[in-house]
Amino acid sequence: MIEAVPACRRCGVCCRRGGPSLSRRDLPLVASGLLRPARLMVLRRGEHVADNVAGGVGPLAVELVRLRPGPDGRGCLFFREPHTCSVHSERPEQCRTLSCDAPGAVAATYLEDRLSRRDILASDDPLAALCAHHEAETDLVRLALLCRRALAGHAPSREEVARAVRLDAAFRELLPARAGVAAADLPFYLGRPLARALPVLRAALGVGGLYKPVPSA
Ligand code: SF4
Repeated sequence: MIEAVPACRRCGVCCRRGGPSLSRRDLPLVASGLLRPARLMVLRRGEHVADNVAGGVGPLAVELVRLRPGPDGRGCLFFREPHTCSVHSERPEQCRTLSCDAPGAVAATYLEDRLSRRDILASDDPLAALCAHHEAETDLVRLALLCRRALAGHAPSREEVARAVRLDAAFRELLPARAGVAAADLPFYLGRPLARALPVLRAALGVGGLYKPVPSA
């Protein structure tokens, strides 16, 4: 028997923790323009995130598209204090199904049927090809492995990480300059900069990691 999910108390606790990740059932909200790129961000496969639903911190198994935080960098951008959703009648599916009183009901299934950039960008959109190229060349799962090898002193891995960092930076210049993408939309098209997405890359970028100090003469 399927247990009924307790009704939302509209207390705002979930909303203050951050915006929801989206499912394919939210595509009409994307198509209507309510959930446009400037309001979305991508968390890439392999990205280290805190999981507010299932708990814990770790690499993501699948790409997620989620609502961005509000101006204070926390909470959902549609949340208004004291406890109002400014898009309540059009809120995403996760907001409709997640209950503070029964988070397990969503935790078991919420990584299924997740929305990704591939669902949003038309296959013949040149931006789709650019995003796919960036994703392949800066694959976070592979980069995490390379970073660990670089930190252990493996020079070829260190060079591969450095190349990926340069390529990521180049894409973040190229899309606004050549493809007409607003700089504010980059967190949707490319996700977060590599050093923010991968803690181990920050370690590899530190002294003794990716960039070794030059010994003094
Ligand atoms: S969309 Fe509305 S209900 Fe969902 S997290 Fe944001 S403010 Fe809360």
